[in-house]
Amino acid sequence: MKRFMSGIMIATSIILLTACQSAKSEYVKISDQFFAMDTYITYTIYAPETEVESMQALMVEANALFESIDDLANRFEEVAGVNNIATVNKKAGKEPVVVDEKVIEMVELAKQTEEQSQGAFSVVLGPVSDVWRSYQEGERTGVPSQDELEQLRPLLDSDQLIVDTAENTLYLTQPDMILDLGAIAKGYATEYVANWLEAQGVEHAIVNAGGNVKTIGTHPVNETFRIGLQDPDNLSSVFGSVQIGATSVVTSGDYQRYFEYEGQRYHHLIDPQTLQPARLYRSVSVVTPNSTLADVLSTTLFMMPQHEGETFIQQYYPDVAVLWYDLAGNISMNPQMEELFTLGGE
Ligand code: ADP
Ligand code: MG
Repeated sequence: MKRFMSGIMIATSIILLTACQSAKSEYVKISDQFFAMDTYITYTIYAPETEVESMQALMVEANALFESIDDLANRFEEVAGVNNIATVNKKAGKEPVVVDEKVIEMVELAKQTEEQSQGAFSVVLGPVSDVWRSYQEGERTGVPSQDELEQLRPLLDSDQLIVDTAENTLYLTQPDMILDLGAIAKGYATEYVANWLEAQGVEHAIVNAGGNVKTIGTHPVNETFRIGLQDPDNLSSVFGSVQIGATSVVTSGDYQRYFEYEGQRYHHLIDPQTLQPARLYRSVSVVTPNSTLADVLSTTLFMMPQHEGETFIQQYYPDVAVLWYDLAGNISMNPQMEELFTLGGE
């Protein structure tokens, strides 16, 4: 979702790590922030002082890669030189479109998750998301009628999204269908870029794309990373944290994008069953090494009653750690998360 300010480097900082006996105290913390996919992307690399310049150059390159995935997943505007999701949507009901295999990968995982979750995740939710978005962005006032939403339901049939992995094509067979990778693209880009940085020799780093976190290696001094989980009622503070090695932490929350009408909050995580914003949790956090999966699962679990979510995770992803923060502020977690989570702010 590249809509404004994309690619601008926002802040650079270099901090010397101190108070440590280890040889790695020579390391410095180098941080850069960019804007892409409608969010802030922060790269933090821990490296020897001699490598500061080369690491800074790597962060710029990494962010260019992030942006190239943003371009592929963009459903709002076509991008010169590539077929992206906007292209696929424009050709709905007309013809298949050849896309980059990264897009095929994202769509395949999305479709698989939709099947496994029995429709809690929907990769073709675009028509409904667009209606809600028009209210959120102030183009319309109030809230959509259920009738208006229900009329769009026939467009939410992902069997009508044909994926041809031999030809690398995507085809929406019905006009007005809208493919939407909004719940997976940021995770995919984070995963891709972090793996690329690691392949370039980065050993200790954090990529944080608007709360979608992927760590490379461990903290050079503390040996783990501690990642805070944002307090839904006070976004500048955290309600707890997870202590992790090299993995990914992703949260879906009702506080990221929303509007209010007659005292009710309407956010951007839409339950495909009701076509309304899901109202079970303030946030759901997921820890698992692959950031693409973490992104898909946090959105999916946000739609599911907790017992269903627990069964779903046990059945398909037994190693994934999950934390549910419900509407009353109660926190629950599965055993995998209990090993990582600490309550309280920093
Ligand atoms: P964020 O992008 O804010 O971090 P998510 O990863 O949870 O949050 O993705 C939210 C986006 O996913 C929405 O903006 C919308 O495009 C899409 N979306 C909303 N509800 C669903 C759903 N039930 N299944 C799949 N995608 C969804
Ligand atoms: Mg998601």
